[in-house]
Amino acid sequence: MNISLLKTPIDYLKGVGPNRSKLFKKELNIFTFQDLLSFFPYRYVDKTKYHKINEIQNTKSEIQLIGKIVDIYEVGIPRKKRLIAKIKDDTGFIELVWFKSHKWIKENLKLNKNYIIYGRPNLFNGIYNIPHPELELYKKETLKLRSSLDPIYPSTENLLKRGITNKVIRSIIKDLLLEINSKFIETLPEYITKEFNLLDKNSAIVNIHLPKSNKILMESIKRLKFEELFYLQLQLIKKNINRKEKIKGYDFKKVGNVFNSFYNNHLKFSLTNAQKRVLKEIRNDLGSNAQMNRLLQGDVGSGKTIIAFMATLIAIDNNFQACIMAPTEILSVQHYNNYKDICKSLNINIQILTGSTKTLEKNRIYSELENGKIQLLIGTHALIEDKVKFNNLGIAIIDEQHKFGVAQRSKLWKKNVLPPHILIMTATPIPRTLAMSVYGDLDISVIDEMPPGRKDIVTVHRKENSRLKVIRFLREEILKGRQIYIVYPLIKESEKMDYKDLEDGYDSILRDFPLPEYQISIVHGKMKAQDKDYEMERFISGKTNILVSTTVIEVGVDIPNASVMIIESAERFGLSQLHQLRGRVGRGEHKSYCILMTGNKTTNDSKTRIDTMVKSNDGFVIAEKDLELRGPGNIMGTQQSGIIPLKIASLIEDKIMISTIRKYVREILSLDKNISKNKNRIILETYKHLNKNNDIWNYIS
Ligand code: ADP
Ligand code: MG
Repeated sequence: MNISLLKTPIDYLKGVGPNRSKLFKKELNIFTFQDLLSFFPYRYVDKTKYHKINEIQNTKSEIQLIGKIVDIYEVGIPRKKRLIAKIKDDTGFIELVWFKSHKWIKENLKLNKNYIIYGRPNLFNGIYNIPHPELELYKKETLKLRSSLDPIYPSTENLLKRGITNKVIRSIIKDLLLEINSKFIETLPEYITKEFNLLDKNSAIVNIHLPKSNKILMESIKRLKFEELFYLQLQLIKKNINRKEKIKGYDFKKVGNVFNSFYNNHLKFSLTNAQKRVLKEIRNDLGSNAQMNRLLQGDVGSGKTIIAFMATLIAIDNNFQACIMAPTEILSVQHYNNYKDICKSLNINIQILTGSTKTLEKNRIYSELENGKIQLLIGTHALIEDKVKFNNLGIAIIDEQHKFGVAQRSKLWKKNVLPPHILIMTATPIPRTLAMSVYGDLDISVIDEMPPGRKDIVTVHRKENSRLKVIRFLREEILKGRQIYIVYPLIKESEKMDYKDLEDGYDSILRDFPLPEYQISIVHGKMKAQDKDYEMERFISGKTNILVSTTVIEVGVDIPNASVMIIESAERFGLSQLHQLRGRVGRGEHKSYCILMTGNKTTNDSKTRIDTMVKSNDGFVIAEKDLELRGPGNIMGTQQSGIIPLKIASLIEDKIMISTIRKYVREILSLDKNISKNKNRIILETYKHLNKNNDIWNYIS
């Protein structure tokens, strides 16, 4: 048996044929034998258990009954007839219902005989019935044979409609397993299966589909998860190693005047230990001859920007250019304003380039970039336009990366001899396991410590009926000299409604905070950049007390005097967005508050999100919860980085396994970098196979 067998189109499988194969392809993305075998059940039903009719309590799961058919009849108008078989056990009655192909079934049903009935109950007019059950004549002996767990495969409406039931899928897979007959190639060396007490590959594949017992099923799942995670991590870490070997980077060994002068004369605070550690990691990368590809993670307000800025100074010290890309105009301007004075005293030529830079100015910047006059360029997407050509870009910092695609990034080095060093900063923390799996080929730095003196932000949930109290509280804060953010949701699909919310909200805010006593700024996405800047500027400089806005202020904005963040319709925001917004306050010495406003009713999910916010200020904790609630596919950034290719392991349930395996793979590679030792032969072979085929599941001999 060989690999090519597994590449066989499923059309050739017994029991499939052209019609069904079309459905398999369309509905389940199953094209080959291989695809089918790695189509794992998502749950199992214990067919050793029997229920009584009066125990049926929900329609969520299949159940199994033993009962006697006491009546068989048809109801309904011709063509829409249903077949009904009434079943009785010692606790009551239930109806089995067939809507289709009843003629054949009717002929085969036997009155007054006991049957084993298996199916998923349905509730109709308040009474349970079982549509289209599986039936088997009851015999004492069959009970003994049914000592196994039945796999339940994912399915779709269309498959069921066309008669491809779970039973059909199960039997097709069973036939295929028989044909392949335990010839899967072992993909883990014995020393690993021994060390981690793992089942062999053959048993695992067979038992994931046809488990002989719950115990062996658990072992199969563990073995397959291990294998999947092992090779995922091996690929990621290998990719990282290979890249470092192959892709040379500029060597910035020198830490010179500019950096030192900034460090000694311009740094207004001392770095936290975490910042120091991360800075060291970056400096190591920059002086290592390989291109840096580093992800910098840290909670909102943990001080990522300053680290990024200092990294650019190292490039400048080595006579290279640097750039910082931010996702919004507001942020670019803020970075620029933060650093322009310092740059002046350090004699660094810093410029800003955004969508709203005037043509004349733009052209000047383009030419000064090309002739190397500009040393540090700050900007938005405008930085990756074709006209932008650096003379010698040494490092690119990408702030709040989820808004930039990977392909866009590489545009930066079109003129370079070597690619620039890349530092990506995240807006909010990414759960550890997700970072390890999605960004696992990057080096990751974590700032896990807040600058000193930060007070926790008091977060509360308030409903519509306490609005008056909230307004009173805001007036008190304003009286103390504080400033306030009021944020309205902006969700693309309901943009019109959102703007209406914003406008209505703005009107009532004007009533509650009348001129001239109160000054209010408003910023939203539909405004011209110029007007936005003007309004923002009024708030930043303290001329206005309140900033009313949509989520355009979500990332990065840093105004220390602002002490209250009101989030309207908080139930409509995701967790990381809420946390990011909350991070706009608590940036100065003042006690700060985040008030989550919702209607009087909230769904369970939004209630959980809001409770999480109220309970925790820690972005890493919140990120974990977010992952749990939404699943990995929806978490920021991961969509662009491609799907997470996990079939059986879970980033949520298998956290510990992921960390253990990552560490273990690192160890193996540190002793055997090229996987060339004899004891790792199986690993190398599988790894090679994987790189060709990208599928570890059904690698058979
Ligand atoms: P983020 O990680 O969210 O990008 P910032 O870089 O904007 O955070 O930093 C938040 C604020 O903390 C800024 O005002 C910055 O000047 C300040 N800051 C950064 N590092 C320190 C530090 N070690 N001590 C005190 N304040 C710091
Ligand atoms: Mg930031």
